[in-house]
Amino acid sequence: MNKKRISPIDISPGDFRKMGYQLVDQVADFMGRITELQVTPGETPEQLQKVLGTGPLPENGSPPEALLIRATDLVVNHSLYNGHPKFMGYITGAAAPIGALADLLAASVNPNVGAQVLSPMATEIEKQTVKWLAEFIGVSNNYGGVLVSGGNMANFTGFLAGRTAKAPKETKAEGISAASHKMLVYCSKTTHTWIEKAAFLFGLGLNAIRWIPADAHNKMDTSVLEKTIQDDVQNGFLPIIVVGTAGDVSTGAVDDLRAIASICKDYGIWFHVDGAYGIPAAVLPELKEMFDGIDAADSIALDPHKWLYSPLEAGCTLVKDPNHLTATFSSHPVYYNFDSGEAVMQNYYEYGLQNSRGFRALKVWLMLQQVGRKGYAEMISEDIRLSKLMYDLADAHEELEAISHNLSITTLRYIPAGFMNDSEEKATYLNTLNESLLNELQKGGEVFLSNAVVMGKYCLRGCIVNFRTSEKDIEEIIEIILKEGRKMSIQ
Ligand SMILES: *Cc1c(COP(=O)(O)O)cnc(C)c1O
Repeated sequence: MNKKRISPIDISPGDFRKMGYQLVDQVADFMGRITELQVTPGETPEQLQKVLGTGPLPENGSPPEALLIRATDLVVNHSLYNGHPKFMGYITGAAAPIGALADLLAASVNPNVGAQVLSPMATEIEKQTVKWLAEFIGVSNNYGGVLVSGGNMANFTGFLAGRTAKAPKETKAEGISAASHKMLVYCSKTTHTWIEKAAFLFGLGLNAIRWIPADAHNKMDTSVLEKTIQDDVQNGFLPIIVVGTAGDVSTGAVDDLRAIASICKDYGIWFHVDGAYGIPAAVLPELKEMFDGIDAADSIALDPHKWLYSPLEAGCTLVKDPNHLTATFSSHPVYYNFDSGEAVMQNYYEYGLQNSRGFRALKVWLMLQQVGRKGYAEMISEDIRLSKLMYDLADAHEELEAISHNLSITTLRYIPAGFMNDSEEKATYLNTLNESLLNELQKGGEVFLSNAVVMGKYCLRGCIVNFRTSEKDIEEIIEIILKEGRKMSIQ
């Protein structure tokens, strides 16, 4: 018998080629037009459901060509484009086009990067990518790690490695509750919400988090950190992890990593750095000093899908001594035969939470080569320059108050001309006005900003991790804010 099996899900190479070319044509058109589109069509879920339809699970199949054409229409014409040059909300990078091609290639061969025997070249490429990322941010090549889905997972992975390293040895067998001293973790008030998920999910509990206040520049107050640790040790607690932030999610502030590292060393605490957003800026020689101390981190989270412009999803955990990852995640069930033979295999299922793993390294590996360190330095530095320009334009305008600028995040707010902010009521009015203004701007679809609350002030916040944003976009965004702000404050 040599008859080929006919499966309804298979597509002949000829048909695949035809559909693929068609899709690539449409994607290329979309990429070519993205700067001329609205950031978002701003449709409501009800409108979208109408477009999508609410039919039941199909009983029978449909021709893939028509399905792809419809899917392209739905996704291209009814989405928010975070690659649009005027998208500055939250922290989502514009996606490098080569990443789209890389994902196609990765999905086509479909290596399972959980075990090297299942993904011979993909594993080597991931190893090289991890090594290059360590080099990129300027830490020693002892660091090893693993690619994960994003910043949350990268932080969880580092957190868990730290917990294994610093928790009493019996914890692995007996669980957290067996520890005779309550374990504590320390982080600044500005820390991203992943820390709460981690404290709760990994058994320490929310009360195990010691929230250290931040100073006026949103940096952790390290003297309070040290004092808190001292008191906790005296009171019989067990401090296990301190989280430093390299680019806080609201304002982009970078903690004093050197000072935190030194405290961690004195008390034998795991030093984790959340660099999900900001750490790629360490590639700039002029900013090196800002990240001083990063090379003392036991673990580092970074997020290629933010400031390295990778398409979603790509995060990375780097650990100074990668044995802490295997100590945390490795297991050897009888049904795995991944280490036979003489070759030294790197089985990534032993380095993180995932078992079967996709080939997300490919896109990051390709991007790093397409532009090199130099290309990244240029793009990151331009994002920072544009962000500063946004701050300066706001600062120079009497109807705008520039609030903060760090890395590529600027916060500002609208203040009506001649407005006297001289009472609590008026301060509240300004907060409400700017909140409504943000909602209007988001609905309008011309620009997408998000918000921050800085020292009680509700601000508009723009974060530029976008290789398409230009000076003209910044100037236009300022005008759009003014135009909308004026409309709203008249009412
Ligand atoms: C974005 C971000 C995270 C979360 O990353 P995801 O990729 O959204 O999971 C964590 N920490 C910081 C500082 C961030 O900027």
